[in-house]
Amino acid sequence: MRGIGKERRVHLAGEKGAGDGARKRLDWTDLGGPDRELVERAQEASARAYAPYSLFAVGAALRTNSGKIYTAANLENASSGLSICAEASALTLANAAGDFDVEAIAVVGFAFKDRVGASRVVAPCGSCRQLIAEAAQLINSDVRVLCCNGDLSSIVASSISELLPEAFGPQNLGRAQHWPSLREKLHARVKQLIEIRQKR
Ligand SMILES: [Zn+2]
Repeated sequence: MRGIGKERRVHLAGEKGAGDGARKRLDWTDLGGPDRELVERAQEASARAYAPYSLFAVGAALRTNSGKIYTAANLENASSGLSICAEASALTLANAAGDFDVEAIAVVGFAFKDRVGASRVVAPCGSCRQLIAEAAQLINSDVRVLCCNGDLSSIVASSISELLPEAFGPQNLGRAQHWPSLREKLHARVKQLIEIRQKR
């Protein structure tokens, strides 16, 4: 069971706990096909968390405009401060695949030793909001953010502009519009370096 049925409720914007603006609290069954797949993939990814210190598992699933989905989980470290969030890893995976037009990201988090902890919706931390905002500014778009509890019975549909309004980013530095041409220069340089290596 995924916590649906008797307890299932749909909270619309403005209701207590639903947040502000266009944010909506939903149940897993309220989501359409692509978003439902996204939250499912985030939930499944949480099983791959390395979280021996916080005992808090996070799974993230990121969808780009190509329709591809990249999933990741949190990665902790004995050296405090080195832990990497699931959302940051998913962003890195998408960028590494050369597919950084981020359209939506789902986040599932829960304390895995605590049965009660899975009922609370988890949202990206401040650092991850900043990372997502940068991806959004690069393509002059917004990113849909689906914040979920552990069993997907409670999902808050939001956007990065709502979670981090007036975000500082590449547009402030005039870099958002320059990046495509800079990236072309980077690709050309790497091609040159590969050719140099192949001629040796
Ligand atoms: Zn984070």
